[in-house]
Amino acid sequence: MIVNSLILFFFGICIGSFLNVVILRYDPDKTALVGKHLGGRSKCRSCGKTLRWFELIPIFSFFVQKGRCRTCHRKISWQYPIVEILSGIILVAAYLKWGLTLKALLIALFALSLLVLSFIDFYFQVIPDELNLFIGLLGVLYVLLGWQTKAFGLTEGSFIGYYASVLGLRQNIFLNHLAAALFGGLLFMGLIFLTRGRGMGMGDMKLGAAAGLFIGWPDIVLALMLSFILGGFFGGISLFLRRKKMKDMLPFGPFMAAGILLIVFLGFNICNGYFRFFNLA
Ligand SMILES: [Zn+2]
Repeated sequence: MIVNSLILFFFGICIGSFLNVVILRYDPDKTALVGKHLGGRSKCRSCGKTLRWFELIPIFSFFVQKGRCRTCHRKISWQYPIVEILSGIILVAAYLKWGLTLKALLIALFALSLLVLSFIDFYFQVIPDELNLFIGLLGVLYVLLGWQTKAFGLTEGSFIGYYASVLGLRQNIFLNHLAAALFGGLLFMGLIFLTRGRGMGMGDMKLGAAAGLFIGWPDIVLALMLSFILGGFFGGISLFLRRKKMKDMLPFGPFMAAGILLIVFLGFNICNGYFRFFNLA
């Protein structure tokens, strides 16, 4: 188990290193997420010097060079080690929770997509359609897998375990995940309508639907609740610290990703802790 975890962690770091390139070379004006820009050797973003092999070792190079370019000494973005380490953690966490299974693979791909999406939304205030489509496709595969392995019922098929049975819709896996997709999509449609498009965008709505399709009902309700709590909390802090105007709101994608991933990996523990805290269990 430890050997597998270590191998997966290093494999995850390499994937993260690739995802960093995908994030940095994303061009919001291009339609394709992975375009021709992906080719070519990596260069320093400040001085343009082509990087040598020992400057491209994930995590290691960043810390050895103390986060600076060896030529121009400008700071290298913290995004590099963060995405690499988080990708490693995602693979290990999926493996420890669900083993070397197809389910673990689909969940890991879902989590990695949310990671990429968070950074792109943070930099460009846009969630690429390609990523929402990919997440929707993963959702379809996840539902088919659950249906085929009969991993659905009163106590199964939800990331919050038996707590899910309280909110119903546990007779049919297809109905359950379809309802969750509708809930995610319609909630944001309502918010866009109410705020006249100044708060949430179409990308958030599509992500709400795609993520709902993947994680099902009532997981999507809790995930979005957590997102709004996190978004409100950090939005309040940034409003207080930087006196940001309400107009230039924080992108919501990273908070949605955080809420969803908290439910996927810790949903049962969060519910359990909540009910224990209020002595309801
Ligand atoms: Zn440089």
